[in-house]
Amino acid sequence: MSPAVPGRAASGRAAHVKPPRHLADLDVAGRRAWVEEMGHPKMRAGQLSTHYFAHLTAAPAAMTDLPQNLREHLAATFLPPLLTEVASREADGGATVKTLFHLFDGAAIETVTMAYPDRVTVCVSSQAGCGMGCPFCATGKLGLRRNLSAAEMVEQVRLAAALAQERELGRLSNVVFMGMGEPLANYGPLVRALRAISEAPPAGLGISARNLTVSTCGLVPAMGQLAEEGLPVRLAVSLHAPDDEARNTLVPVNRRWGVAAVLGAAFAYHKATARRVSVEYALIRGINDQKWRASLLAERLTRYGTGWVHVNPIPLNPVEGSIWTASLPEVEATFVETLREAGLTVTLRDTRGREIDGACGQLAAKEENQDG
Ligand code: SAH
Ligand code: SF4
Repeated sequence: MSPAVPGRAASGRAAHVKPPRHLADLDVAGRRAWVEEMGHPKMRAGQLSTHYFAHLTAAPAAMTDLPQNLREHLAATFLPPLLTEVASREADGGATVKTLFHLFDGAAIETVTMAYPDRVTVCVSSQAGCGMGCPFCATGKLGLRRNLSAAEMVEQVRLAAALAQERELGRLSNVVFMGMGEPLANYGPLVRALRAISEAPPAGLGISARNLTVSTCGLVPAMGQLAEEGLPVRLAVSLHAPDDEARNTLVPVNRRWGVAAVLGAAFAYHKATARRVSVEYALIRGINDQKWRASLLAERLTRYGTGWVHVNPIPLNPVEGSIWTASLPEVEATFVETLREAGLTVTLRDTRGREIDGACGQLAAKEENQDG
């Protein structure tokens, strides 16, 4: 057994136990250094990377360019299994696949792969649970169990790419960090994962940084840091209200960084990266869907112009046990129209996979709740 693989956490809840180190946690130089440190020629790093990032496999049997007696050992050491599939559900005639995984310590996460005519998108988790406490969100109800390692994020993408290939859904083209967790609260591993996903094979999975979306509840300092990474990823900001009063309830971290600061950081991100920022807005009946709030949202966004932002309203996907529900269709239509009249670009986000609890966090949340 590799000494790099720590034992299973006795309590199953220990936050300090780290997942096994994996090639995808490191950059190219780090991978070579690690392979040499373990007593192997550094060319093995390139060979293993080709299998993993270019051929999307971690199976020793496929590694025919490696000495036969070393294949198992090399794969187990440098590409240790990180995710165990526990359940998988399909919707939209197989075009949406939602998978529940257990991590090495039993923590549950989920990944959703969605095939469209022009693209294949995977929605990945960045944390097991989330500490941000948004009351309308299933993941928020769980609290934070732990951060994912970079490789645990990359592995979700690698498996989705392999799945898309296997099922002939098309090539995996987009990655959205809209699964469980707040990606910017797990900053270092997130950025390492973004690099490993976007670098050209065999250094990475070769999905253009422009096709990666990081969604945040508005952690202002980390938004500023991300703008400086030289990674032209798309930023989505989960606003959900244009006023601090409503947002303090819906997105509690707003008490720390209010609407003005979040929008300022979003606009600064646009200026630094030339990427259009998405503003996410879950429409909740009677809570944040009033016409006056649409007008206020338009006013606060258009203060910076109209070309920098794209608004994505999405009908709330009600969480079990919550009194909140989605806005009425006519209210939703008025909301969208008000934004459009102000010159903003608006796309109602699709509700793919709703019949399989497609809203982020819900499959894993159910399982965690059953666990106690
Ligand atoms: N923590 C990050 C990313 C994960 S959540 C964030 O909050 O942005 C991804 C998106 O799903 C966010 O916009 C979030 O607000 C939204 N979301 C969460 N629960 C939802 C629900 N029940 N219905 C609709 N959208 C929801
Ligand atoms: Fe966390 Fe995002 Fe859910 Fe809020 S909406 S609890 S930040 S996952």
